[in-house]
Amino acid sequence: METVSKTAARTRLTHNRALNEHRPELATPGTVFPSRGDVQTILKKRMRDELMTEALCWELETKITAEYARAAKATGDFAFYCPHEICLAKVHARTKRNTYFCAKKRHISGCPNEGRSTESSLHPGTPKPRPAQIPKTPIPNLLGPQPALKPKSQAPTQAELLQLSRAVREVPALHPGTLAEVVDAWMQMPSKERGMQALTIGNYTQTYESAFTFVRDLRRPYDITTLGLDARVVFGAATVRTWGHLVLIESSKKFSVEATEVPLRLSVKLAEAPSWLTDFVGQTVTLFWHGVSPELTSKKNGFRFKVDLDSPYAGIALRLGELTP
Ligand SMILES: [Zn+2]
Repeated sequence: METVSKTAARTRLTHNRALNEHRPELATPGTVFPSRGDVQTILKKRMRDELMTEALCWELETKITAEYARAAKATGDFAFYCPHEICLAKVHARTKRNTYFCAKKRHISGCPNEGRSTESSLHPGTPKPRPAQIPKTPIPNLLGPQPALKPKSQAPTQAELLQLSRAVREVPALHPGTLAEVVDAWMQMPSKERGMQALTIGNYTQTYESAFTFVRDLRRPYDITTLGLDARVVFGAATVRTWGHLVLIESSKKFSVEATEVPLRLSVKLAEAPSWLTDFVGQTVTLFWHGVSPELTSKKNGFRFKVDLDSPYAGIALRLGELTP
């Protein structure tokens, strides 16, 4: 004997076939079958309207963005899967105008990521339109390199994928960023959104609002040692000038030393300075710094740290003009 759910499933299949192939004779008897135009509208509604921009990553045991998958793929061989529990199809990152995930074979029928190209068409052979929406560049939610990979000796089982999919269902897709990318995201974000966008730095989960410290908001004494630079990005106005064979970056803010206050003064050899730095000579800029410990100079006339221009995650970023929160 056939179960009720099996019968219902077969009716649904027949109904879908009737719609897909526009065959009124297959439709459930007694129903008013829609016109060809209406069927197209119905099918469009069923299709995914957005590109698939997030997937499970087996080696990182989390959800990641397509943009990041493309970047990470260059450094490792990762396996990506559709995050929907009913599907879990293997996917790969692809760039064609946009970067997005697409299934190696196909998504399970009914998966919200099932694309237009996998739907049966009313006009076989004609090109199917790609979704028009262009996804926004993802906002980094981690300042730093990607988390360590979990060693995997083999491909995941369906049960393992299902477990992972459930564990990360509510977790935002991982998108690590460099200091420069995080600063750009902060600049482009409306102030009111900064309190809602998560940003993890080291072991600290914060928001873009709480992770950025504006030096003008500090209270006396201006103690440079308590800024929490391993967890925060500190920013404020600075000037850039040349001095002998050096490029000097000097903060407008002065920090406490005994009974006086002195600026942060960073130097880079002119011969080693990249053009993005020398372009700022003579300009007022905003200096962002993170992950470095300033020390008092031997003359006690300034704080400094060694600027490592090759470090993408710690150090400095400069942007033109005097920015405020
Ligand atoms: Zn899927």
